[in-house]
Amino acid sequence: MIKIRKIDHVAVAVNDIDEAVAKYRAVFGLEGVGREVVTSQKTEAVLLPIGDSNIELISPRGNDGLAKFLEKRGPGLHHIAIEVEGIESALALLKSLGVPLIDETPRNGARGHKVAFVHPKATGGVLVELVEPAEGH
Ligand code: ZN
Repeated sequence: MIKIRKIDHVAVAVNDIDEAVAKYRAVFGLEGVGREVVTSQKTEAVLLPIGDSNIELISPRGNDGLAKFLEKRGPGLHHIAIEVEGIESALALLKSLGVPLIDETPRNGARGHKVAFVHPKATGGVLVELVEPAEGH
């Protein structure tokens, strides 16, 4: 069994992070924190904390997949991220079950977390990211 803890974030693809942050502030009073360019993902990301979870706004910085997503579908929901305990063993288990994975080994994501994407065909259309927080977070 994969040890699942919570929804870490729901990611929304946007063209313009400043504009999106301003909208979420105006509509919900949410504040963006921890804005960063995530080199390994070729994205720029900012978190809007909500309780124990976050909305994550992401914009491409050389990420062709995300750029194509925005081109084709426009800004909107992009993926759901689930926090797991032991991301390597979770991936090994999914692989052994024949679950299609985009990442068979974790990459470095925002906040220094380890992340890996499960292919949307595994869930019938939703891109799911597994996240394991960096030590001490
Ligand atoms: Zn994410």
